[in-house]
Amino acid sequence: MSNDALLTSSIGSFPKPEYLTKARTAFQQGKIGEPELKAVEERATKETIAMQEELGMDILVDGEMYRGDMATYFAENTDGFAISGLVRSYGNRYYRKPILTGPVRFRGPITVDWWKWAQSLTTKPMKAIITGPYTMMDWSFDEHYSSRREACLDLARALHEEVRALADAGAKYIQIDEPALSVRVDELDTAIDAMAIVTAGIKATTLTHICYGTFEQIYPRMLDLAVDEYDLAMANTGFALVDHFAKNPFTKILGLGVFDVHTHRLESVDEMRAGIEKTLQYLPPDRIRVVPDCGLKTRTWDEARAKCANMVQAAKQAREKLAGAGVR
Ligand SMILES: [Zn+2]
Repeated sequence: MSNDALLTSSIGSFPKPEYLTKARTAFQQGKIGEPELKAVEERATKETIAMQEELGMDILVDGEMYRGDMATYFAENTDGFAISGLVRSYGNRYYRKPILTGPVRFRGPITVDWWKWAQSLTTKPMKAIITGPYTMMDWSFDEHYSSRREACLDLARALHEEVRALADAGAKYIQIDEPALSVRVDELDTAIDAMAIVTAGIKATTLTHICYGTFEQIYPRMLDLAVDEYDLAMANTGFALVDHFAKNPFTKILGLGVFDVHTHRLESVDEMRAGIEKTLQYLPPDRIRVVPDCGLKTRTWDEARAKCANMVQAAKQAREKLAGAGVR
């Protein structure tokens, strides 16, 4: 069996430990400075990487401990943006929203130093993760561009520089998150054109993660996004979406979400393995990666750990079964 069969990974975020949330509040209140906050973020990152290694995961993530909002973080570090005051999203959650006030331009690498440092902590491959142009555009107020498409394509040109810098630094897996993509089917063409700009000429495995939404409406057209792999939520619908591959074959690598990230319930190893085995009817094992449905930031540390442990076990059992059946 190929060494790439059923590799395990995760989408990106891990739960932020309480000491980090407290440190971030203290930083916002001016009680601690940036170096102190960074030291706490580094401690949380090290613990997240150590946990993934201990569980035996194959492609690791840094857990996104240094990020607040995933669009604002990139906007703060890119020319052409201002950041709003606090905007209410849902419930009592407030965040600062990016505002496009001028032409978007790459200012310099945003995540490269952090990625290099995270990679230096492990011999396993560390995935680099950025927020994609469509999502950046969709989650920003626009006071500069005359169309959403124009804004999106300029963002794509800036983010291409970031992806190139990550590839030059040695990142083997570069993920361009597009959680907003499933919301507006009519803009899929814009997202496809933007992704082609982002990943043009990049020598690394490129992936995207698209969140819940209108999978039925964007599949199979979404396969035209210029990436090698798609990490998709499949467990929260009981792996029913996998059946779409019978009619329209999935032509790329699938990051198969094998557990729901929005429930406290711990899915069993058997349940996850059944999802993997169902998917193996449509895709060879080296084109399936085993991942959670989405980021893990809404779970507790213990829940995330237990779910990932079962996931690793499920992948291992599925691999052993394939090896027993003589699959190469
Ligand atoms: Zn997601």
